[in-house]
Amino acid sequence: MNVADSEVVVSILSDAGYEPTDDIGNAGLILINTCSIRDNAEQRIWGRLKAISYLKKRKRDLKVGIIGCMAERLKEKLLETDKLVDIVVGPDGYRSLPALVTEAEAGHKAVNVLLSREETYADISPVRMDKNGVSSFVSIMRGCNNMCSYCVVPYVRGAERSRNPESILGEVKELFNNGYREVTLLGQNVDSYNWESNGKIVRFSELLERVAVISPLLRVRFSTSHPKDISDELLYMIAKHENICKHIHLPAQSGSSRILNLMNREYTREWYMDRVNAIHKIIPECSLSTDMITGFCTETEKDHKDSLSLMEWAGFDFAYMFKYSERPGTKAARKYIDDVSEEIKSERLREMIDLQSRLSAKSKKNDRGKTYEVLIEGYSKRSNEHLSGRTSQNKVVVFPGIGLKKGEYVKVLIERTTSATLIGKSI
Ligand code: SAH
Ligand code: SF4
Repeated sequence: MNVADSEVVVSILSDAGYEPTDDIGNAGLILINTCSIRDNAEQRIWGRLKAISYLKKRKRDLKVGIIGCMAERLKEKLLETDKLVDIVVGPDGYRSLPALVTEAEAGHKAVNVLLSREETYADISPVRMDKNGVSSFVSIMRGCNNMCSYCVVPYVRGAERSRNPESILGEVKELFNNGYREVTLLGQNVDSYNWESNGKIVRFSELLERVAVISPLLRVRFSTSHPKDISDELLYMIAKHENICKHIHLPAQSGSSRILNLMNREYTREWYMDRVNAIHKIIPECSLSTDMITGFCTETEKDHKDSLSLMEWAGFDFAYMFKYSERPGTKAARKYIDDVSEEIKSERLREMIDLQSRLSAKSKKNDRGKTYEVLIEGYSKRSNEHLSGRTSQNKVVVFPGIGLKKGEYVKVLIERTTSATLIGKSI
C-alpha cells in the first residue's frame, strides 16, 4: 500500500518539477512515507528521523516531511520534534504537496491532514519505483469501513472509497504496454470494491475479470480479501481465468471464535473454515496465506491453541505473524485491557512462527516433481546464471536459465526445495 502511495507522491512532485534521487545526501527534500499499524513501525520512523537530523545540520535548507498514516496520527508530536519536521501530510493530502513544499521553503510549517471521502488519486499516473519492470501494484480503493477493534487503519486512512474502474483499467493497460506482466490490485478489503455510476454497479469479481481479459500474458493478483466477504462468485471468477493467480491472502487473525468476536472481525472459526473449504473445492490448485495476531486482549492458552490448530488445519503456505500492539484511539485500546504480558506474546509468537516454518516447508516439499509456469522476474540474488520468478501460487522459484529474459514465462520442473524457495530446471 505504501509503495503504491509513494509512487503517487513521486508523480505529483515530478509534475511540479521535482526529481527523485537515489542519493539521500544530494536531496533538497526528504519525504518519509509512514505506517502506523504497529508501534514498532512508528518506532522505526523516529529512529530514521534521528538519523536524518545530522543531514539537516549540515544542510540548512534541507526540508523534511512525514507523509502517510503517522502524519495523520501524530501531527503535533511530529512538528514539535526538535524543529526537524517541516511538512506533515496525511494519506489524502498528497495533491497539496507542491504547495506545501513551497510553504516550507518560505520557512513555515506546512500541514495537511484532512481526510477525504472522495480522494482516490484516480487520475494520477504513478511513477513506478520498482526495479524489476515486471510486476507492479495498482491501488483500486482507499480507506476501510471495517472496524476491527485492534486496527488503526480506519482512523488514519479514512472511510472506504473505490476507484473508478476505467482509470484502473487504463493504468493496467499502460503497465502492460510498458512491458509489465503482473499487477497486484490493492485494497484493505478488495471484496467490498463497489463502484456505482449512472445506476450501474461494478463489483470486485467483475473488475477482476475486466483486468484479466486485458491480455492472457498479464498475471493478476489481489490483496487483501476479508474472510467475511469473500464470495463463491469471486472464487469461480478466479478459477475461470488462467491468468488470475491461484493464491489468496485471507487473514484469519485468530483461530478462536471468542477472540474473533472481540476483534470485531464479523466471522467465526467455523465460517473461516467454510471459506477455506470453498477455496479448495472451487480452485483446487490455490495456495493460501494469512495474517495472525498473537496475544490479543484476554487471549488464553486455549485461544492460542485454537489459532495454532486452525493454522495446522488450513496448512497455510505462508503467514505474516504479529504480536498484538495496542494502538491509541482504537476500540480495543478504549474498551479492553492489553493484559497478555510481553513475555507471553513473544512465547506464543515463537510457537506460531515455528509451526508456520514447518507448514511452509511441507507446502514446498509437496511441490517436488511438479511442473509450474513461472514468470521470470530477473536474476536470482545469489548468481547471474540463475533466474528467479514466481509461480501462480506466489512461490519463488530459482532455476538455471541461459537465453531467457525477465517478463517471459517458462515451465519449470521442481527438483529441490529450501525453506524459502523452490529450485528446479526449465523444460
Ligand atoms: N486490511 C487487511 C490488513 C491490514 S493491516 C485485513 O484486514 O486483513 C495488516 C495486518 O496487520 C493485519 O492483517 C493484522 O494481522 C496486522 N495488524 C493490524 N493491526 C494490528 C495491531 N494493532 N497489532 C498487531 N497486528 C496488527
Ligand atoms: Fe484494519 Fe480490519 Fe480494515 Fe483490515 S479490514 S484495514 S484489519 S479495520
